[in-house]
Amino acid sequence: MTEFKEVKISRILNPTSIDLGEYVINPFMGCEYSCLYCYVRSNKVISKRLGKWGEYVDIRINAPVLLEKEIISKKPKCVLLGSTTDCFQPVENKYKITSRMLEILNKHRVYYNILTRSPNIVEYIDLLKQGFCKKIYFTINNITSELKNKLEPKSPGFELRFKAINKMLDENISVVPYFSPILPWLSNFKDIFTLFPKSDSVEFEGLNMNLVNITDIISGITSLYPDLKTKYEKLLHDKTFYDSFWASVKKDIIKEVISAKKNYNVYIHNFGNYFNNKYT
Ligand code: SF4
Repeated sequence: MTEFKEVKISRILNPTSIDLGEYVINPFMGCEYSCLYCYVRSNKVISKRLGKWGEYVDIRINAPVLLEKEIISKKPKCVLLGSTTDCFQPVENKYKITSRMLEILNKHRVYYNILTRSPNIVEYIDLLKQGFCKKIYFTINNITSELKNKLEPKSPGFELRFKAINKMLDENISVVPYFSPILPWLSNFKDIFTLFPKSDSVEFEGLNMNLVNITDIISGITSLYPDLKTKYEKLLHDKTFYDSFWASVKKDIIKEVISAKKNYNVYIHNFGNYFNNKYT
């Protein structure tokens, strides 16, 4: 059960080093979707909040009022929505905090990027079409339903996400399908480009083996695929094996890219270094 609580915060525009905006905006603390591989679980500040990730959502009810004020003083040109939560998770339907903030950003002509995995975002198409939404990175995957139940049981189904992406692309909204995480020996990204005929690119991110709860993630996977246990253990501990495995994944993706004639990025986490990752 998720516990919901209305809270007031003192600041909504938080500076960031992420290159998708000068500030991040998170209308909620916590996330109903509760993905096991959510990197926020490894965030030291957020993990200080009492409660298990996925079992609470603090609703920052004064966020829109703060945003109006902070835009005047901080004068952002571009912000990122949803760096530590999903702005379009179900509780947003009731509170419409993200909706009000999109209106404010549009009114003040502030550009924004969005990270989400929620098909609810299609309800905001009118706001997103006003010229200030730069890009939506929409997380997708295609793991089996059994595996999804282990790893992200409360998140929206993949088919719904595919439909939402294509609907927004039809409306000329810039959406990047973001295939994440690639699960070693399980993910199938063959033909993934054909699912989104109007997208210019697809981006991929490998499973981050440096997450604080990586052993839980591996346990979830190997409870269904026990034969993979040894290989996952080797990935965790053997840098040469790790590097050569991900190099082969990149090659496989590139093969798909060449036949699809699309742009792509593959984001692979460095062995044993959570914060020092690289794009290729
Ligand atoms: S939807 Fe995003 S923020 Fe929410 S739990 Fe999943 S990965 Fe974390």
